[in-house]
Amino acid sequence: MTLPIFLVGARGCGKTTVGQALALAQGCQFIDTDFWLQKTAQQTIADIVACDGWEAFRARETDALNAVTAPARVIATGGGIILSEHNRHFMREKGIVVYLCAPVAVLADRLEAFPEEGQRPTLTGKPISEEVSEVLALRDALYREAAHHVVNAAQLPDQVVSDIEAALQLARAS
Ligand code: ADP
Ligand code: MG
Repeated sequence: MTLPIFLVGARGCGKTTVGQALALAQGCQFIDTDFWLQKTAQQTIADIVACDGWEAFRARETDALNAVTAPARVIATGGGIILSEHNRHFMREKGIVVYLCAPVAVLADRLEAFPEEGQRPTLTGKPISEEVSEVLALRDALYREAAHHVVNAAQLPDQVVSDIEAALQLARAS
């Protein structure tokens, strides 16, 4: 049985982009909790947060994580999924967790180029680079706590995929 692979990391680290490429390379199914949730709710994340608040969104995100977790899947998660201790433990127990780690400047550049506000409503109301810096400072330790592997996500997507595959291979061999 192939364990699910969970990609975690800050907004813009490439969970969706790298996840799709990794799933293709591994012959796995790709699922994105943000897309799954928006499709199931028939609402954007921004609308869910505006109507029901962050707490309600986080509860739905946990439901989404439970619903999509299955063998032979690459699962791109939302940036805040690791805020819940339950979710951190759940992912570590059910599969292999990979943290796509990138510096603030790289994340901010990507988010400024492709903000996708519907999917990424502001977390702090501050400008992007300030927000990325603040949020990463709070979450970096939680991404690391959840992760079995940490990879450099500032590289080109194909290189990130290769690094993840190498880490998985090493872990399988040991
Ligand atoms: P996440 O799902 O982690 O929020 P995305 O995969 O949506 O991140 O990527 C955010 C933006 O950055 C997208 O426009 C994507 O094309 C770009 N991007 C993602 N990964 C890389 C990468 N490794 N190198 C360059 N650009 C990237
Ligand atoms: Mg994404």
